[in-house]
Amino acid sequence: MIQLYIPLNFLGVIYREIKQSLADMERLFKLLDQHREVADVPNAQPLAVKGAEVKFAHVDFSYEAKRQILFDVDFTIAAGTTTAVVGHSGSGKSTLSRLLFRFYDINAGSITIDGQDLRNVTQTSLRKSIGIVPQDTVLFNDTIEYNIAYGKPDATREEIVAAAKAAYIHDFIESLPDGYGSMVGERGLKLSGGEKQRVAIARTLLKNPAILIFDEATSALDSRAEQAIQAQLKEIAKDRTTLVIAHRLSTIADASQILVLDHGRIIERGTHGQLLAQNGAYAQMWERQQARQEVPVSSPRADDRD
Ligand code: ADP
Ligand code: MG
Repeated sequence: MIQLYIPLNFLGVIYREIKQSLADMERLFKLLDQHREVADVPNAQPLAVKGAEVKFAHVDFSYEAKRQILFDVDFTIAAGTTTAVVGHSGSGKSTLSRLLFRFYDINAGSITIDGQDLRNVTQTSLRKSIGIVPQDTVLFNDTIEYNIAYGKPDATREEIVAAAKAAYIHDFIESLPDGYGSMVGERGLKLSGGEKQRVAIARTLLKNPAILIFDEATSALDSRAEQAIQAQLKEIAKDRTTLVIAHRLSTIADASQILVLDHGRIIERGTHGQLLAQNGAYAQMWERQQARQEVPVSSPRADDRD
């Protein structure tokens, strides 16, 4: 009985940890280090980032053998520019960001950063170069300081405070009884969706990655909070190679390139103006969202979540 109890209990702890941090992919993969789906090749080199051009070349992908998720996905994010991906729920948008992190290997084609195939570089160097502000930030049961410093474990208090200030969360932290030492997460203070995202932004600022991914980063927020955070995300994205998985089209109208994904295929691409002129799927989505914006902000918007 005792022998059984210990491993089961241990598994329980791991399971809880994984469940808690499901949305935080970096953490999840640290926990699952021994069980990851991909491994470094024997002579893997550290990724050498120059401008951080990201290229998906004819990528096919499936999580399970029977169901293909991405079909011949082909696009380039020029160094330092922003590409936005839009499309219905389940069309494969978040999958693109998982593949850029190389959480899975692709079935066909290639993904490269500055010409280096993700399969030939070390995962550690790859993940160091990419920052993600996820859909739903899960905080660790630790201090708020730890949660911000997670992007850079050796950060000094000054750096942490600077990042918190830049993410407009410093004043809030100072107002807490224990300041930066306040415990957050499931067993500590419960932060609002907006506060959690500011923590994620501070974490990303501290990490200072060459490549950024925003995965519907502001979909959990009300309109006013979203506008404030959008402005900040734009600031962070300036001069960095950025992949935005967008929910509200108004936030990505100035992206260098917009891709419309439908059932795992890119069906339209271009700038906002070009796509409106095409009068296709994007133009329809845009019209629908414009019409909805005339609805008062206080009314529930079912489209904010999917
Ligand atoms: P989006 O972000 O556009 O809503 P996703 O990229 O998350 O879509 O998912 C694309 C498709 O892949 C969906 O049909 C989803 O059910 C499926 N999918 C996502 N993650 C997994 C997984 N880990 N295993 C199997 N299928 C998955
Ligand atoms: Mg998604």
